[in-house]
Amino acid sequence: MPETKILLPESEIPTHWYNVVADMPNPPAPVLGPDGKPIGPEALAAIFPMNIIEQEVSSERWIPIPDEVREIYRLWRPSPLFRAHRLEQMLGTPAKIYYKYEGVSPAGSHKVNTAVPQAFYNREAGIKRLTTETGAGQWGSSIALAGQMFGLEVRVYMVKVSYEQKPFRRSMMHTWGAEVLPSPSPLTEAGRQILAAHPDSPGSLGIAISEAVEEAATRSDTNYSLGSVLNHVLLHQTVIGLEAKKQFELVGDYPDMVFAPCGGGSNFGGVAFPFLADKASGKAVRLVAVEPTSCPTLTRGHYAYDFGDSAGLTPLMKMYTLGHDFVPPGIHAGGLRYHGDSTLVSQLYHEGLVEAQAVAQLATFEAGLTFARAEGIIPAPESNHGIAACIEEALRCKESGESKTLFFNLSGHGHFDMAAYDRYFAHELEDYDYPSEAIEEALHHLPKVG
Ligand SMILES: *Cc1c(COP(=O)(O)O)cnc(C)c1O
Repeated sequence: MPETKILLPESEIPTHWYNVVADMPNPPAPVLGPDGKPIGPEALAAIFPMNIIEQEVSSERWIPIPDEVREIYRLWRPSPLFRAHRLEQMLGTPAKIYYKYEGVSPAGSHKVNTAVPQAFYNREAGIKRLTTETGAGQWGSSIALAGQMFGLEVRVYMVKVSYEQKPFRRSMMHTWGAEVLPSPSPLTEAGRQILAAHPDSPGSLGIAISEAVEEAATRSDTNYSLGSVLNHVLLHQTVIGLEAKKQFELVGDYPDMVFAPCGGGSNFGGVAFPFLADKASGKAVRLVAVEPTSCPTLTRGHYAYDFGDSAGLTPLMKMYTLGHDFVPPGIHAGGLRYHGDSTLVSQLYHEGLVEAQAVAQLATFEAGLTFARAEGIIPAPESNHGIAACIEEALRCKESGESKTLFFNLSGHGHFDMAAYDRYFAHELEDYDYPSEAIEEALHHLPKVG
């Protein structure tokens, strides 16, 4: 029987990140300022260091990973690639299933892959503090850890409903020395405005981003740090796909399809973009972003310029969006709640180079249980989206008799998400299709451009 864990030595940790912009058929749609004109890199300098801005706008194919960052990557990278023998047997599929496991990072998800270089570049630029938002808490924990490693103070605005439901994610952030506040908070103008209009607001990622950006923009010792969506974040995450390609080489296989959960796009971009490079040179590989039916950004959103946050403080980015004032339905427990999506992922989807699927909530938890019972690891609810789409394809292979090679990114473990599983066990979760009227309505709130 072929190996179960396909491992690389530390010497195989990538030395460069892969920048997909170099292989895109068209340059990325420009980022626009409030006047609708493309902004220059300086416009971002109030909240990001120049070394990160350079990466944000770069079209170089390969960008070197600093030694200090690779040193820290060694704590958990290269992450293992698993052959899911037991899942294959349980499903009775002729398909071969592989997954890359990013839950081996100290914070338990792929997000640390970008938190570490972001903290590093900010320290290099002389910054002392970082602000950020977090939804489910994975990003907040990752940046808390990375800030600790590079001696930066970290303040996290945590979406209020998660702040209340996920006390142990808060404890993790405290353990690594970060300060955590429920958002909307009375500390910022953006927070005060929301509280005045909706005192019981459960918060949203868009609101928390407004708070963190506002604070960073008004303090010179403080920068803002984002865990997904932006080009440099997707760039840092390509260590996942780059390692996976070497691991597939070791076993002489190559995926027909790659699946990844997609919220803001960093996890999907991180695993899929290095394979897109092969697609550009003629390889037939399908790349599938998987999202919830309750937050169907790529599959049902508008492809338009929109703000990255709810208060409209960020520049305008062209992306699939449900509207920057989107507040996710309370019934949704599976993460991936951001209203928009990465510009790069959006454009590649628009141009037909990558695919997207939406999966209903109950199916994602069912897939997570099937996986946990076969392979042992309890996946993060976000990861369950990719697993569900992969299992569905494996069952199609069972019907057709095809032995495709399927690969998904297991983006994190679910050890701090057991309250969501408990809601599933207690039959408190239901399927929810985001209403068409709400999507229609969002059109009227999109900023006017041109
Ligand atoms: C954040 C997160 C995702 C989604 O990543 P995006 O960059 O928002 O698409 C998926 N899985 C886990 C475990 C996460 O923490």
